[in-house]
Amino acid sequence: MRVNNLTYLIKISLLILLLFLAKACETVKEASGPDVGHAPLLLLISIDGFAYDYFDKAETPTLDSLIDVGVKAEALIPVFPSKTFPNHYTQVTGLYPENHGIISNRMFDPGFNQYFTIGSESSSTGDGKWYQGEPIWVTARTQGMTTATMFWPGSDAEIKGIRPNYYYPYNGAVSPDDRIEQVLMWMKMGTSRPQLITLYFEQVDRVGHLHGPNSPAVESAISAIDGYLEKLMKSIALLGFANKVNVMIVSDHGMAAQSREKVIFLDDYIDLAMVEVVNWSPVAELIPVSGKEAQLYRQLLEVHPHLKVYRKGALPERWHFNYHPRITPIVAVADAGWSIGSRIYFEAHPKAYKGGTHGYDPAVPAMQGIFIALGPSFQSGVETSAVEAVHLYELMCAVLGLIPAENDGRLDVWSSVLN
Ligand SMILES: [Zn+2]
Repeated sequence: MRVNNLTYLIKISLLILLLFLAKACETVKEASGPDVGHAPLLLLISIDGFAYDYFDKAETPTLDSLIDVGVKAEALIPVFPSKTFPNHYTQVTGLYPENHGIISNRMFDPGFNQYFTIGSESSSTGDGKWYQGEPIWVTARTQGMTTATMFWPGSDAEIKGIRPNYYYPYNGAVSPDDRIEQVLMWMKMGTSRPQLITLYFEQVDRVGHLHGPNSPAVESAISAIDGYLEKLMKSIALLGFANKVNVMIVSDHGMAAQSREKVIFLDDYIDLAMVEVVNWSPVAELIPVSGKEAQLYRQLLEVHPHLKVYRKGALPERWHFNYHPRITPIVAVADAGWSIGSRIYFEAHPKAYKGGTHGYDPAVPAMQGIFIALGPSFQSGVETSAVEAVHLYELMCAVLGLIPAENDGRLDVWSSVLN
């Protein structure tokens, strides 16, 4: 059965290659005319966990060449917490997590009396009831555009009754090559091709967690992703779209090294039977048992020099993390490099708290990501100061000519990069 499948796959691959070559020749011809005939195409690429300073860790010839002809921000400042789901969903909605509802990768909704979790066994990520606001693919579809997502947090859920025209439920087993191949297939659809396409890579983040941001493994992962981008951009050029496609490359957050020498043990200060711990580290989100909130807060306040504790509603204003029912009554945040755990877990998991993590204060440079953009809508050779991720939605709407939904972002922060 496996062999049959393999043979079938090889045949299909050859067929796809032939179709690709035929179509490529055809499209090059088409593209040499005055225009391909409809609205500009935006390709939005996320490299999960690619920190703003990763360019210094490995050779990135492809990214360097894209920056040369396009624009780059010094950094892309994430929203709090600097985690994957809150940030990707902020990027596509222009809303802070307290306004779009994806306040963490794991969360409890008191109204639903349910948990939202990510991972292969989870079905909540594809359930639209968790997602508020309007993602860019919904904005685009309601204004008549076709959209396609080769993975993006939230893109496999029906939001406001709408999904992308083409999408896949997240599956980490799909190789980068296959993801790129799908994007190219969409681009080759001629006049029916999508005008907004997303593409997502998690490999750099995964290696950063396992080995830490300063590891040789991260250097290899950076080089590898640069290689995939080279393949993608060369194929786009072969399609004759080189100067017609707007490409935005972003990341959701960076990565900080953590260690077993820097762990804050909650059970040194509180009775864990008194709390539901929704998330542990580096942002501990705590639901105290009824009536114990004030006591729990007092017991955690100023007990550790690298732990800050807040009651809901009193978190720093710049985090915009106070006004959603899913935000827990007590939030404890570790300083960069520190972890929050329990003695029992620490002893039972000798490999935990090593490597790298993220989620810390977005003002910590190690948490900051990247923004690169090129194409007909963008200036060439411009570097701008660090920009907050909440403004990306406004930028994408401007590039696509869409009327944005209500959001927390601003377009004017991009004035120096737009044509
Ligand atoms: Zn991560």
